Amino acid sequence: MTTNHIKMTDPNCIFCKIIKGEIPSEKTHHEDGEIFSMPDINPIAPGHTLVIPAPHYRWFYELPDDLSDKFMRVAKKVAKELKEKYSADYIEVSIVGKDVFHAHIHLIPRQNSISS
Ligand SMILES: [Zn+2]
Repeated sequence: MTTNHIKMTDPNCIFCKIIKGEIPSEKTHHEDGEIFSMPDINPIAPGHTLVIPAPHYRWFYELPDDLSDKFMRVAKKVAKELKEKYSADYIEVSIVGKDVFHAHIHLIPRQNSISS
């Protein structure tokens, strides 16, 4: 299977613009630039981070297997880093796709003592 999905972009998509560098962000590259992580622009808790595949797919389950494997691997790695950095009890993970139409994973450091 070829992996030419890296060229898929949507000119109106904010995540595509960030990945291309058209909008500045403190993004971090992973897996040869195929996966990115960056702080959520409207964090619901300190350390709220997004993990995003570079190609534009709306839904997580539309990703080719090789890319979804990398996506999950990076999400796990970043979740562990956030748990350490923010002394979180656990990391809330959500995959939505209704806020920005480009697949992404929310990683949200959480404390057991705070119920929200
Ligand atoms: Zn996009």
